[in-house]
Amino acid sequence: MIARSILSPTTGFIAEAGFTHSLTPARNCTFGCTYCYVPTLGIYGGLKPDDWRRWGQFTTFKDNAAELLARELGSHQTIYCSPLVDPYQPAEVERRLMPQILEAVAANPPHVFVIQTRGPLILRDVDLLKKIPRLRVSFSITTNREEVRRMYEPHCAPIPERLEAIRVLRAAGVETYATLAPLLPCDPEELAALAIEASGRDLIGDPLHVRATKRHGATTREAAFRISEVQGHGEWLDAAFQAEAVERIASAARKLGFGFDTGPRGFAKLVDSSTYESNPESDSRRRLRRAVD
Ligand code: SF4
Repeated sequence: MIARSILSPTTGFIAEAGFTHSLTPARNCTFGCTYCYVPTLGIYGGLKPDDWRRWGQFTTFKDNAAELLARELGSHQTIYCSPLVDPYQPAEVERRLMPQILEAVAANPPHVFVIQTRGPLILRDVDLLKKIPRLRVSFSITTNREEVRRMYEPHCAPIPERLEAIRVLRAAGVETYATLAPLLPCDPEELAALAIEASGRDLIGDPLHVRATKRHGATTREAAFRISEVQGHGEWLDAAFQAEAVERIASAARKLGFGFDTGPRGFAKLVDSSTYESNPESDSRRRLRRAVD
């Protein structure tokens, strides 16, 4: 498909986190996660009816993304790629649009460029990532339990492979965060320890969206509600239980000398990690960081 533009001014959650623009390289995402909120956006997510009816079954790439970027990029922009699709979704293996996009971004770097993904395919482009100043990767780690991952996101890579991708990016010098979003049924302390061991950074996260805490707009897809009902995971969709799980992760992170924030405050770490450190860099924190490193 030939798109008219590639960068969109942000609104809502990611605007609140400090991003000025989003970059969405395709319409529809072949990871097809059962909880994905994007199809619930409908036309407000730039989707066509076939996209929300057959979410995850196909995708439509914006073939002229790199050319549009050459015209639209500016040094003042703080860009999130992407709130509507995973740029390293399975269809990207063949399409190879991201290398063109990264070349364009490297040629005209914005203030901050953030890639949100759960695809180890990103490792294919590590040499290009290293060319972009102030690039950050937010890598989704949704649970520590493989059987849960298989239920809710069967087309995504296993969790150990995702943790290894974070380690490889980190070793390559790419600023990479483990993002616990959406938080699926898990062992909170174990998940926090695994994510911190891999990233060596503060954690970011967000519970599954539920109407009790998010009254309007995009929300968790029906398929995930059905799975949670059948599997007896209903408590993970309860706001009070979610808050408790978040606190357990935050407490486990604190014991290791790191922070954990959710919502816009958490994602703001990607914009400017120095502004949103949840704890001052104390001697003990530095010592703990070294221990994890
Ligand atoms: S990877 Fe992200 S955009 Fe793609 S289906 Fe899963 S949640 Fe939705």
